[in-house]
Amino acid sequence: MVIELKKEVSQAQAAELGVQARCIVFEENGRSILVSASSVKELPEVLKPHTEAFFVTSSDIQLASKEYRKEKREIDLGFTKIGGKNNNTVMITGPCSVESLEQITQAAELCVERGIGILRAGCYKPRTSPYSFQGLGLEGLKLLALMREKYGLKVITEVRDASHVDDVIEYTDIIQIGAKAMYDQGILRRCGQVKKPVLLKRGFGTTLQEFVQAAEFILSGGNPNVVLCERGIRTFETKTRFTLDLCGVAYLKEYTNLPVVLDPSHAMGYAYGVPDLTRACMAMGIDGLLIETHPNPKVALSDASQQLDFNQFRALHESLGVIGKAIGYKLV
Ligand code: PEP
Ligand code: MN
Repeated sequence: MVIELKKEVSQAQAAELGVQARCIVFEENGRSILVSASSVKELPEVLKPHTEAFFVTSSDIQLASKEYRKEKREIDLGFTKIGGKNNNTVMITGPCSVESLEQITQAAELCVERGIGILRAGCYKPRTSPYSFQGLGLEGLKLLALMREKYGLKVITEVRDASHVDDVIEYTDIIQIGAKAMYDQGILRRCGQVKKPVLLKRGFGTTLQEFVQAAEFILSGGNPNVVLCERGIRTFETKTRFTLDLCGVAYLKEYTNLPVVLDPSHAMGYAYGVPDLTRACMAMGIDGLLIETHPNPKVALSDASQQLDFNQFRALHESLGVIGKAIGYKLV
């Protein structure tokens, strides 16, 4: 149950009343919200005089659910908004990893050329093998900060584990929590303590329920700015890297109030399929797209097979506007 206390209830008072619930969220507008387990269906008697409204939820998808808030959340990205009633499809692009000043500068210049506001690249890579390139770490974060300064771009990068979560929070505009880190409670809880937007990727072996419950950790920690990202789940199929769960995206749009970004690059795993898949995503009416691009994918230090070269990306980007237009969405 989600219980919105009356505005005049102070935070100190809310903290006392909070023993009746599991979590207390202090909203920036001064309102406090208590969240109990979804199995609680009756408002406790002692809370009645202090309660403005309460919402019974059918599962522990609560703050993220349409049962609580019907309207899609709107998140301010600085140069534009994602979610809400904007019908924006926000393009996020860049290489899988920051590799060098030259490479990330080329990627930033592609964003500028295409009028794209967000540059994405990883610095702490959650590789499957310890012998693969692990990312440039702090040096990479500094290069991204340089790109932000030089080109006025927003940057997004991922946090791999709790050892560097504070560095990522400090340097980036949008925090990405990757598929492998989605269950990391240290990361989820830390990201709940800040207000920067968080792009939470779905683990590839994760049900939709588990995925959105991971988002609940951030929301119930006090950060309302969560964006979900579907990036493919593991199925019996091996010809493609993962299977992009578009049915799941339809579910998230119907039942949750969070903006949804799609990542066809990691789902497909091969550049040849990324443009078609991206156009299919665009046609669903989604809040954003994450596409990996590299100045020379053949020599990329991670995810080489799936990154588009710049000409492939230009052609894809060019083709998306008309699809958005057909369904009332604007490519941003
Ligand atoms: C990435 O975004 O480069 C990445 C590692 O993705 P995922 O967490 O979805 O595997
Ligand atoms: Mn990648």
